[in-house]
Amino acid sequence: MDDCVFCKIIKGDITSTKVYEDDDFLVIKDINPVAPVHDLVIYKEHIRNLNELKADNFKDFSRVFEVITKVAKLENISDGYRVVINNGEDAGQEIHHIHFHIIGGRKLGKIA
Ligand code: 5GP
Ligand code: ZN
Repeated sequence: MDDCVFCKIIKGDITSTKVYEDDDFLVIKDINPVAPVHDLVIYKEHIRNLNELKADNFKDFSRVFEVITKVAKLENISDGYRVVINNGEDAGQEIHHIHFHIIGGRKLGKIA
């Protein structure tokens, strides 16, 4: 999608710090981290949010926890981290291209 920041990052039109990549997911450092580790697991297909996932997407997402645990190991935060999806406007989703946040590297407070 032309005006989507994450599509531009996937295409390489906007630079990012890559942590991990496979056929379906790109994992990068968040530009505005809220903790020492704050990575974004970005699905390579432009899907707005969970509500738009279709059967083929669900197959791809069956692997997402494998990706997340791999990244946690790479980042040395397997002892504790938070996985967040801000899904839709009311949840504060800013970039309407489905992604997971992986947040860790410090003691985290209670979730809002
Ligand atoms: P959301 O609120 O949509 O769940 O999260 C979007 C995240 O993307 C935010 O944490 C924000 O800091 C991050 N972000 C926005 N623009 C860029 C960018 O150009 N590069 C990177 N690496 N992260 C971005
Ligand atoms: Zn996109």
